[in-house]
Amino acid sequence: MEVILLGTGSAVSNDRAQTSVLVDGSVLVDCGAGTVLRLSQTGVPAHSIQDIVLTHDHVDHVSDVMPLLKKATMEVDEHPGVTVHGPREALDTVRSLFDAFSYIKPKLDVEYDEVDDGSKLEAGDLEFTAVETEHGTPSVAYRVEELVISGDTEPVEEVAELADGAEALVHECAYPDGAGVDGHTTPSELVEDVLSRCTVDRVYLTHLFPEAEGRKPEMLEKVRDGFDGEVYVADDLTRFSVG
Ligand SMILES: [Zn+2]
Ligand SMILES: [Zn+2]
Repeated sequence: MEVILLGTGSAVSNDRAQTSVLVDGSVLVDCGAGTVLRLSQTGVPAHSIQDIVLTHDHVDHVSDVMPLLKKATMEVDEHPGVTVHGPREALDTVRSLFDAFSYIKPKLDVEYDEVDDGSKLEAGDLEFTAVETEHGTPSVAYRVEELVISGDTEPVEEVAELADGAEALVHECAYPDGAGVDGHTTPSELVEDVLSRCTVDRVYLTHLFPEAEGRKPEMLEKVRDGFDGEVYVADDLTRFSVG
């Protein structure tokens, strides 16, 4: 299964697209601003995306859904339709975006698939499992085969359990140590609360805030100090395979 981290930034990033991960060339996990541009840079057409799997309803995870679908409907005579999966609040946000841009609505079929703690969902040929996380809004992490994507969250045991035995964990690491805020994760917290509680081969730190940009070596060192696996700071268009 091929994974491309399309966007690795946050709502305030200056040189990263907002959050999105392309899984297996056909499923998007989150779709923040910049996703459409990054996706086109991979050569994957927008209409290839028939499942959008959302972690939560924040703007940096949903704001490119309509631009993506608009582009997709212009690429083909008949769009194959899309399923949007996610917590109810995230689905409500997408429904209201369709209300706001109502001229796009008749151009494709949209199905909504509500996700909560423990949900399993089918997207493409893949099965995803969701667990609830802690982010101040209903939010989930997903496991798909050997890959786990944390979404935005405080470091929680549920993600460690979900990631146990996986090959790759894409975990948010929004702030360096000492600059952390509620609802996000720092390197030390990631080690203590997640990585020390599970076995995983590689971890990718993502969703970096500007406070983290100048401190990447220090963040990597913090995680490497307490974790035996491989550690990377994700960049836009970082790609890897699992399985
Ligand atoms: Zn975010
Ligand atoms: Zn968020």
